[in-house]
Amino acid sequence: MPTLMPQALRAMTHLIARRMGSEDAEAAEVADHLVRANLAGHDSHGVGMLPSYVRNFHNGLLVPNQAPETVLDAGALLVIDAKRGFGQQMAANAVKRAIAKAKEMGACVLAFRNASHIGRIGTYAELAASRGCAFTAFVNVADHHDIQATFGAAEARLGTNPFCCAVPGSDGPAVMLDMATTTIAAGKARVAYNKGTTVPDGCLIDADGNPTNDPTGLIRDHAGALRAFGAHKGSGLAVMCEIMTAAIAGGQGSFVPGKGGTLNSMLAIVIDVSKIGDPAKVDADIQAVKTHVKSAKVAPGVEEVLMPGEPERRMAAKRAQAGIDVDDTTWRDIRAAAQSLGIDDAEFDRTVGANRR
Ligand code: NAD
Repeated sequence: MPTLMPQALRAMTHLIARRMGSEDAEAAEVADHLVRANLAGHDSHGVGMLPSYVRNFHNGLLVPNQAPETVLDAGALLVIDAKRGFGQQMAANAVKRAIAKAKEMGACVLAFRNASHIGRIGTYAELAASRGCAFTAFVNVADHHDIQATFGAAEARLGTNPFCCAVPGSDGPAVMLDMATTTIAAGKARVAYNKGTTVPDGCLIDADGNPTNDPTGLIRDHAGALRAFGAHKGSGLAVMCEIMTAAIAGGQGSFVPGKGGTLNSMLAIVIDVSKIGDPAKVDADIQAVKTHVKSAKVAPGVEEVLMPGEPERRMAAKRAQAGIDVDDTTWRDIRAAAQSLGIDDAEFDRTVGANRR
């Protein structure tokens, strides 16, 4: 299993995106996003996504260098259709525009439609938080076979429909909740399958609706489903993510027969917190919430009460030093994807090797 430093994975991703036709800035955005997801500990949304991006590109379901369409730019409303553009680039640009509007007007509601997979939603929250904005996003996943069984269902009807909410701090988000509404993200089942391991109890059902820990059926055969987290409450949030995106934001819904790619739509609310109140007081009150919550007695078997976002920060600090492990199956799949774009082993190894520490 190779362990690679972030700059090696960034260079490799940049090469693959360039060979898909992305211009330099887009390739850099995709590379930075994927490697930051690995650094945060979310290998499900890191460089392991490249084989599916390349497959979608070959099938015409991911369009590099896409020009997004501004459907509406009126007051605090911004509606953008990404038309299957490279998700990380399309979403980062849309969120930057929403932040600029929030800075001007206090808030912006961004209805962002039909991008190819936009990756880790927390990346956009980090962007907003770095500009002093709170960020809340409902996201859906479409064009793909259904993968989430909602509460009470024995088969899948939705995507993993993530939800994200973050508030600004002195250096990025002070607190950031960023999660799939399934017990685990689909990519985590893929990572478990690639490593030949199982997923935790309660995450998965098989094709007959029975609990299972084996991700093989889900990943290899598209059979079975990931369960919604938190019983009826998590399931309800997943349904609202679908409605806020597929109905309110006007993106593609999972009820539309898919072409086998991945489309994300997002309804995001961006608020410049300095326009509501004194930023110093907001900051002090966020700290007070954190201190209060973390002051609780720790439950048996638990080391520490953490805030949402803390595990990712700690992992990023660790992996920036120690490097990122990429399992053998994922590494083989990435090399095969690179080859399908005409990148031979020598060029691949040269690009990665020159950037190893
Ligand atoms: P997860 O279950 O690892 O974490 C979810 C949240 O819980 C995070 O905010 C994390 O900081 C917090 N958390 C974890 N452990 C904690 C603890 N001990 N105490 C307090 N808080 C804790 O994440 P996930 O649901 O597997 O999602 C992974 C990533 O997948 C996210 O970045 C999400 O945006 C992404 N995703 C993207 C898509 C897409 O289609 N683009 C779909 C689904 C998920």
